[in-house]
Amino acid sequence: SAIVKKLFLEGKIVTVNQEISYEEAENIAMEYDILCEREVKVDVIEELLKEEEEEEASLKDRPPVICVMGHVDHGKTSLLDTIRKTHVTDREAGGITQHIGAYTVDVDGRKITFLDTPGHEAFTAMRMRGANSTDIAILVVAADDGVMPQTVEAISHAKAAGIEIVVAVNKIDKPSANIERVKQELTEHELIATDWGGNTEFVPVSAKTGDGIDDLLETILLTADILELKANPDRRARGLVIEAELDKGRGPVATVLVQKGTLHVGDFVSAGACHGKVRAMIDDKGRRVKEAAPSTPVEILGLSDVPSAGEVFLAHENDKTAKSYAETYLAQNKEKMLEETRSKMSLDDLFSQIKEGNLKELNLIVKADVQGSVEAVKQSLVKLSNEEVVVKCIHGGVGAINESDVTLASASNAIIIGFNVRPDATAKTTAEREGVDVRLYRVIYQAIEDVEAAMKGMLDPVF
Ligand code: GDP
Repeated sequence: SAIVKKLFLEGKIVTVNQEISYEEAENIAMEYDILCEREVKVDVIEELLKEEEEEEASLKDRPPVICVMGHVDHGKTSLLDTIRKTHVTDREAGGITQHIGAYTVDVDGRKITFLDTPGHEAFTAMRMRGANSTDIAILVVAADDGVMPQTVEAISHAKAAGIEIVVAVNKIDKPSANIERVKQELTEHELIATDWGGNTEFVPVSAKTGDGIDDLLETILLTADILELKANPDRRARGLVIEAELDKGRGPVATVLVQKGTLHVGDFVSAGACHGKVRAMIDDKGRRVKEAAPSTPVEILGLSDVPSAGEVFLAHENDKTAKSYAETYLAQNKEKMLEETRSKMSLDDLFSQIKEGNLKELNLIVKADVQGSVEAVKQSLVKLSNEEVVVKCIHGGVGAINESDVTLASASNAIIIGFNVRPDATAKTTAEREGVDVRLYRVIYQAIEDVEAAMKGMLDPVF
């Protein structure tokens, strides 16, 4: 009746169940301090992408967040398990360590947070949604096996994300272990050991016996010191959903990694299309906690629904903002938002991107049937760099175009060049879904010509 009266005073005669225009509704909403959807819409995108500058004075040291990458069977899972077993004391846990997707260990009174899902696929899947989860990657290389295809993939993924790499040379308990060979092989990928005059830390370890694990953790802390990792704990929390599931008894449960600010029980939050009030928080040791500072993983209860892993979560001023964020997110949905936020690179619109000054670097991924071709194509493409654009090959490898290549391309806005190879089935569907440009060639010079032509805006359209 207040609204009917208000409109009446403005000279509009309406009844209670009469429709009014969007503009009128918006005006009324604003007057009553109700958030309008349209207003929020813009904010959602801005807020999600915002890498806001924080005042230097408000920044405090935070623990490093680590992920473990490497070739299959080189010992990623074993390493994570050993670190957890040796460095999370059961006493503080009341006997139980929870499996919540991430855990924090104490080393000499300092904390390190580990993401518990090994592999670069999980890491890049998060990055595809526009957020970086990790500060340092531990690259696990088995000393008896050396550098393998997924080792190379992992290096490309970590480098493309601009994160620091610490090499853990694993399985040194094996008689056939050869640490020097691993160092030698990694020089080809620009990871040069400090004792060889480079600046990559190599730590020999055995996930089986526990040898070298303390050294590895020390090295991580030293690397973190150099990175000067900081965050403002005194602001509304913001972070990432690491895992989420529907628990029979507890409803939607999400493990989140707080990246900035402090999350409290009672905070209003949104995570993708879900929202809610944090009813309870449980840490990785199964304890109920009241707050979670930057770099802390916690399980939260109280969301309306189960969010996807990799989704950004935000704490809000009140229930209403949290809800409108979630609703706007849902209404606009990812397709549109992501389309706007990460306009996919394609050879076809390369020239216009360069002209608009949007593009200073052209990222390429080169896959070929033999190593010789990979190198040849890479070198010729990189040479196409000019004053306007630097052509960079962020990954090169032998074999079919796989999902790892596509996710890397998607997260890094890269184009994939395949030479005498094709994408496998999963890679093909992912590329279509993510809008990644995959170009296949049989002759090297054609690949070079196409990229060159695209850079000059002279690429013939493909029909
Ligand atoms: P992931 O695929 O990289 O996660 O590798 P896993 O952690 O599953 O390890 C693969 C295999 O290597 C398992 O059989 C492990 O027991 C074994 N393994 C892992 N680390 C070591 C190690 O330091 N020494 C030895 N001898 N075996 C290891």
